[in-house]
Amino acid sequence: MSIKINHLTYIYNPETAFEKKALDNVSLEIKKGEFVGLIGHTGSGKSTLIQHLNGIITPSKGEILLDGENIHRDKAKLKEVRRRIGLAFQYPEYQLFEMTVYKDVAFGPTNMQLSKEEIHSNVVSALETVGIAPELYEKSPFELSGGQKRRVAIAGVLAMNPEVLILDEPTAGLDPKGRDEILQAIKHLHEERGITVILVSHSMEDVAKLVDRIIVMHEGKAAMEGTPKEVFCHVQELEAMGLAAPQVSYVFQALKDKGFDVPLDIFTVEEA
Ligand code: ADP
Repeated sequence: MSIKINHLTYIYNPETAFEKKALDNVSLEIKKGEFVGLIGHTGSGKSTLIQHLNGIITPSKGEILLDGENIHRDKAKLKEVRRRIGLAFQYPEYQLFEMTVYKDVAFGPTNMQLSKEEIHSNVVSALETVGIAPELYEKSPFELSGGQKRRVAIAGVLAMNPEVLILDEPTAGLDPKGRDEILQAIKHLHEERGITVILVSHSMEDVAKLVDRIIVMHEGKAAMEGTPKEVFCHVQELEAMGLAAPQVSYVFQALKDKGFDVPLDIFTVEEA
């Protein structure tokens, strides 16, 4: 399934004193099976963009096509889009509300007219994929660590078997261990299941490790696009957009791959 965004503009609170153009003529394509990183400074339009992709927000101008069909064609299409494109929000607290981990993950599939066996198998498979052990299934989601909560929230989306998984800042506010656990689970998901992943992050280091392609948002526009190496060559432009440069060795490797003469060896510790 491919997603095409054509000339998307979105304005919050139009024709009021609070009017804000959050997206400005954005055109992008996301292909089946891709792992895309969406990066950009706070307020650059990342959340607004992804909320358009499963139809939570309707464009002010432009359109979103799923396999060539406008997602706002009619109610049935929108329903289909919400099932096929899963969106895991930034704050799991908004998504976790059942008494147990198991029930929470089962919530989505329960509303999909599946048999009990299918629901059970979806729930267990989703929890396994994100690395949540069976001992935790009957716990309250609120007894879990921050990283575990995020993983349960992601499992809740996965249990509906989406073809596209969109993750909004899944590692925000986590310690390095929680962060690694989430990133590993996402990587595993993409590799094992081949689903399309769109990872929103303000961390270039996170996306550098994982994605095939980066889209850089800046002031509501898709300002830059390419493989991590291509994007990281533009160190100065990225800094001008308020993005902290990724690990220095990564940038230097990227520059070297581009054919620049970089003394990469200065970063390697010589053995005595
Ligand atoms: P990001 O996810 O990159 O931080 P957002 O999409 O949240 O960016 O925000 C883009 C712009 O839209 C920002 O200027 C933000 O202040 C504004 N914005 C976001 N949500 C709302 C809202 N509900 N009402 C008004 N303005 C908003």
